[in-house]
Amino acid sequence: MKNIKDFTLDELKEELQNLGEKPFRATQIFHWLYVEKVKSFEEMTDLSVSLREKLSQEYTMCNFNILRKLEASDGTKKYLFDVLDGNAIETVLMEYHHGKTICVSSQIGCKMGCKFCASTGIPFIRSLTAGEIVEQLIAVEQDTGDRISNIVFMGIGEPLDNYDNVIKAIRIINHPKGLNIGARHISVSTSGLVPKIYDLAKENIPCTLSISLHATNDEKRSSMMPVNNAFNIEKLIKACKDYIAATNRRISFEYALAKDNNDNLEDAKELVKLLRGMNAHVNLIPINKIENGAYTKSTNENIIKFRDYLNDHGIVATIRRELGSDIDAACGQLRRQSLKK
Ligand code: SF4
Repeated sequence: MKNIKDFTLDELKEELQNLGEKPFRATQIFHWLYVEKVKSFEEMTDLSVSLREKLSQEYTMCNFNILRKLEASDGTKKYLFDVLDGNAIETVLMEYHHGKTICVSSQIGCKMGCKFCASTGIPFIRSLTAGEIVEQLIAVEQDTGDRISNIVFMGIGEPLDNYDNVIKAIRIINHPKGLNIGARHISVSTSGLVPKIYDLAKENIPCTLSISLHATNDEKRSSMMPVNNAFNIEKLIKACKDYIAATNRRISFEYALAKDNNDNLEDAKELVKLLRGMNAHVNLIPINKIENGAYTKSTNENIIKFRDYLNDHGIVATIRRELGSDIDAACGQLRRQSLKK
């Protein structure tokens, strides 16, 4: 059965026309799905009974079940959702001073094999559909009653490896008649799939692009992130510069600091050289120690020195608050635990 949440508004209009209905019915359905957030066709009371019946015969609503939910002392909530085919995905809700931010998964597992990531070692199963990405946001809003204002594609999976579905999900999330979250409040993270960065630049969606950089030379980056063997730092930085030129958007670079690996002042100096003159922001992340992981967290003293060096040399850098550390909120960790049971 088709998932009704897999369609953009224009696609849903076509679907309705194929059912012999007027296209405006699609706008009504969109409203019920994304504004009212109903869980059944039955509740769409301005549609005729016969249309509601037809819809329930043709489409599923893809309502996720919550398998587990953990809440940290700082208010971070982590969900393990049953995606209705026997697989599970993680979604995290975080509270910042500027509002609620949801971190969604884009795939079940990940092919990229970053050495510091809890998803590594979990087999890649499949990419999520657009509707399954959107449903994470709806299910969390239904559960908490909160209005989510920001969305980051930083959960399990490489978003640009599931390009078409992620773009479609963004169009549904961003649509004024859909979830109506502004593109500037949507952030897409990538480990560095260079050709897809060029594709994203052409989409005319002014979302924030976030690059998982984590190292400043190819030897070190390839040892942390195998994707660097395919698209090295030079190609990645060139793609970022071209992205900024095409979109006029600032890029955010993620840099996870690991003790005695990439956290000394030499690394900071190389980072300054690499990003000098770019419209960029560096997000420093105290790396999460994962079971059997090769890296441990940098000291607070080193993290602060690193940030200060960047800021003193013209690169805007902030340290990301560690949210949900008492519930293993780093991507992949909850799913990894559940797989062990
Ligand atoms: S950090 Fe992201 S891209 Fe890398 S393995 Fe983990 S989920 Fe995949």
